[in-house]
Amino acid sequence: MKIAVVGTGYVGLVTGTCFAEVGIDVTCIDIDQKKIDNLKQGILPIYEPGLEEMVSRNAEKGRLQFSTNLAEGIHDADVAFIAVGTPPGEDGSADLKYVLAVARGIGEHMNSYGVIVTKSTVPVGTAAKVRAEIEKALEKRGVDIEFDVASNPEFLKEGAAIDDFLKPDRIVVGVASERAEEVMTKLYKPFLLNGHPIIFMDIPSAEMTKYAANSMLATKISFMNDIANLCEIMGADVNKVRQGIGSDARIGTKFIYPGIGYGGSCFPKDVKALIKTAAENGYDMQVLKAVENVNEAQKSVLFDKVNKHFAGDLQGKKMAIWGLSFKPKTDDMREAPSLVIIERLLEAGCKVSAYDPVAIKEAKHTLGDRITYAKDQFEALIDADALLIVTEWPEFRSPNFEVLGRLMKQKAIFDGRNIYDAKELSEVGFTYHCIGIRADH
Ligand code: NAD
Repeated sequence: MKIAVVGTGYVGLVTGTCFAEVGIDVTCIDIDQKKIDNLKQGILPIYEPGLEEMVSRNAEKGRLQFSTNLAEGIHDADVAFIAVGTPPGEDGSADLKYVLAVARGIGEHMNSYGVIVTKSTVPVGTAAKVRAEIEKALEKRGVDIEFDVASNPEFLKEGAAIDDFLKPDRIVVGVASERAEEVMTKLYKPFLLNGHPIIFMDIPSAEMTKYAANSMLATKISFMNDIANLCEIMGADVNKVRQGIGSDARIGTKFIYPGIGYGGSCFPKDVKALIKTAAENGYDMQVLKAVENVNEAQKSVLFDKVNKHFAGDLQGKKMAIWGLSFKPKTDDMREAPSLVIIERLLEAGCKVSAYDPVAIKEAKHTLGDRITYAKDQFEALIDADALLIVTEWPEFRSPNFEVLGRLMKQKAIFDGRNIYDAKELSEVGFTYHCIGIRADH
């Protein structure tokens, strides 16, 4: 089979590379010339564990190509994926201008039957708009080429994207014809061998599934953050409560960790977009509005603890930050809670020294030289009045606290991810604050 993937970002690059990995002939297309030039030399635009090696291997074998030329890329393609961004517009709805521009381009250049698949996260009704754009372009050309549209939302997690793609919990595909279902079954066959299911449904249901999934996950996080805040007020320990409820199979242990709020390129924008879709159609998403409110407030919880500890006197204090990306194992800084926390610290007059294993380059785009960037986690601590754990990278989990104590001016840790043990830290003389457990518990 021959496929084209249009949009070579986090989703498009992983999608294209994983299809090439199972022997499919893939062209990844992007409008960003520099990105494509770099990819041709094996330089990746993103950090994703294992991806660089997989890109090189498949590019060397000639199964994975990179181009800025849409016409060339979609020539004779059985399937064309649209994997461009769908950022939030000013009113919170998903901005479809990139998706529809690609659809138009496909209509202007396609030469044979193909299935045009939206992999970007798009609201219900988008596949119909994609179809209309393509039809319009074909009409303009005065040609009659058959095609189908399909919706194939992506569920990969940044930081574990390759595994998620190669061994998916499920593949959701919305189709409106048997022919499209056959093509998509053939395409995904290599991924189904070990019992990973493909779920076919109508296109609107597939489009909705992605929003429902992300909104459910965001709800779990905000719910747990709400419970954590109440635990703290009431003198309960959220870690114990989490274990207590997680052992109920109906609830489960996953995704019920309290923290400093969800971020990233997906949850915030998808929750917003679903609220907006509902409102446009006369329905009020009450739960999701609360999920958003809790999340906004949660991003300030760690700063509030710092501020309280220093009795509001933060002027000139040096804060060490461990972790900048919105979660571990990615360099993605989009909507990262670290940005909110750092802004609050800077506003209060703090000096900030931050370390992240891979996200510093990305962070500099937003934070510039308003903070200093340490070359390792220990350099960030020198003379710090406090350490804030913002992203739970594995290498932060078990530091030598005696070394930390020697480097820092004051022994205070504010842990936004609950990765340390309060008792152990108090034994080595640290003041320790985390989420959902009172410091004196
Ligand atoms: P991204 O910003 O990393 O990548 C988008 C790419 O599309 C960019 O490289 C951009 O240059 C390119 N592009 C824009 N317009 C183009 C055009 N006309 N032709 C060719 N290329 C064009 O975005 P992403 O994180 O990969 O997300 C893409 C979509 O997938 C979004 O809808 C997102 O919601 C969804 N999604 C993302 C994730 C994730 O973890 N990042 C997971 C699931 C779904």
